[in-house]
Amino acid sequence: MASLDRTARAFLLTELISGFALTLKYMFKPKVTVNYPHEKGPLSPRFRGEHALRRYPNGEERCIACKLCEAICPAQAITIEAEPRDDGSRRTTRYDIDMTKCIYCGFCQEACPVDAIVEGPNFEFSTETREELMYNKDRLLANGDRWESLIAANLQADAAYR
Ligand code: SF4
Ligand code: SF4
Repeated sequence: MASLDRTARAFLLTELISGFALTLKYMFKPKVTVNYPHEKGPLSPRFRGEHALRRYPNGEERCIACKLCEAICPAQAITIEAEPRDDGSRRTTRYDIDMTKCIYCGFCQEACPVDAIVEGPNFEFSTETREELMYNKDRLLANGDRWESLIAANLQADAAYR
């Protein structure tokens, strides 16, 4: 009986037809996949992506070289050197992050008293060489300048929960 059933299904192409019917059914349904990189999924305001150093609206660096981020980093990925400026303010002369060590825990961001170092919304920073993942202060400040409006909006959205 089973072999008769199999033969009948083979002759009547029922499996092929049901396969086509399934394809047809999903052809007109909303797509569950996104056409990356042309489309992107939503990101949480808490998303921990590429690091950035932020500035105040007047262009001054937020970072006051307190080194709390360096101290708390469990991967020891951050290296900071600092000295006082002529006006007495303390600023970094070197701020490096070895992104190959970073585990994206977000502790640096949490430790920072002035919201200077943040993990921004950018997740598209893959590189071809290891050297490109050694970030310096210029690179981090450029990231901050590039992503500031989104970073500020994300911090604002999350402020009530911190
Ligand atoms: S996210 Fe974590 S591991 Fe990466 S630099 Fe910050 S503290 Fe270090
Ligand atoms: S980024 Fe923040 S925590 Fe790190 S040294 Fe600067 S002010 Fe301190």
